[in-house]
Amino acid sequence: MKTRARKAISVLLCAALIVSASGTAAFADVKEVSYNDGICEHHKVHTDTCGYREARPEVPCKHEHTDACYKYVGVESPGDATESGGNADRDRVLDCPHEKGNHDDSCGYQPAVEAHPCEFNCTECNNISFVNEDGESERHKATPVTDSSVTLWDTSENDGWYYVTGTVNFNGNEQNSKRIAVKGNVSLILCDNGVLNANQGIAVPAGSSLTIYGQSSGSGKLNASSSSYNAPIGGTPRDVNTETAGTAGTGNITIVGGTVNATVKIKGGGPAAIGSAYANNDPFKIEIKGGNVTANAGEGVGAGIGGKNADITISGGTVNATGGYIPGEVLPQLSV
Ligand SMILES: [Zn+2]
Ligand SMILES: [Zn+2]
Ligand SMILES: [Zn+2]
Ligand SMILES: [Zn+2]
Repeated sequence: MKTRARKAISVLLCAALIVSASGTAAFADVKEVSYNDGICEHHKVHTDTCGYREARPEVPCKHEHTDACYKYVGVESPGDATESGGNADRDRVLDCPHEKGNHDDSCGYQPAVEAHPCEFNCTECNNISFVNEDGESERHKATPVTDSSVTLWDTSENDGWYYVTGTVNFNGNEQNSKRIAVKGNVSLILCDNGVLNANQGIAVPAGSSLTIYGQSSGSGKLNASSSSYNAPIGGTPRDVNTETAGTAGTGNITIVGGTVNATVKIKGGGPAAIGSAYANNDPFKIEIKGGNVTANAGEGVGAGIGGKNADITISGGTVNATGGYIPGEVLPQLSV
């Protein structure tokens, strides 16, 4: 019987709650960023839909209790009857809706409102909002991905930040045609309702990294697939830029938000849907901190997420990973 190389899915579930040493310091940081005057000349004033809210303290309840706010508890027996109504042995207890948080228009109560930053995306300034790994809105200058003419994403502009809004298709018809490759530490923002279809996937070679962010609704989508020995997101057995075989390895992949679908579309091939390509042995990291991630090795024989020497950490999000098919063996599945 032949020995078959087996895929490994190693998963470390890590629920980390990091509490700032000083909550007040964190609050002060938020206050220092002033969005009062909008974010740029194209968004001078905040709107109902941009997400901006100023912090407001709680307005306390001014309700004063009346007799109607009390009730009597305990068993009333006929012998207890008194002139005042027969409650001599019963306890009078407060039963007021305002005490239970059910306020009305008369009491003036208003809950505190937390500040929220503006999430307006200025596509003229390329000043784009995203949700960071702490679930907070931030913004970064980013390069728009408007069509498939540029397949090398590097750090020469905007520190390697890119964003997708609307629908952008990269339709390659063979292994490395229209395969996107990142070079350096690249970040991608999937704007809400944006769709990036990359049918030959995104190469993340060793020494580079890809971090994927979403926005507040998480509806921005990356559909990455591969009809070759390339991983839909990750390793490439052949360097897409130099066309040299076997040297590219796999870099670190981090998903913070958005909807990421990765699918292998080759029968019997070995790439992971998210992870290394066939025959890659270099250690690399995959971290999933949020978002909706579906990774499917399809009819290949690779892992859904991982590959040899993959160090996988899942600390948030919804993850469905399905490993490839080996005749006669149980499909390895990971659902978190
Ligand atoms: Zn705004
Ligand atoms: Zn009351
Ligand atoms: Zn009240
Ligand atoms: Zn602007």
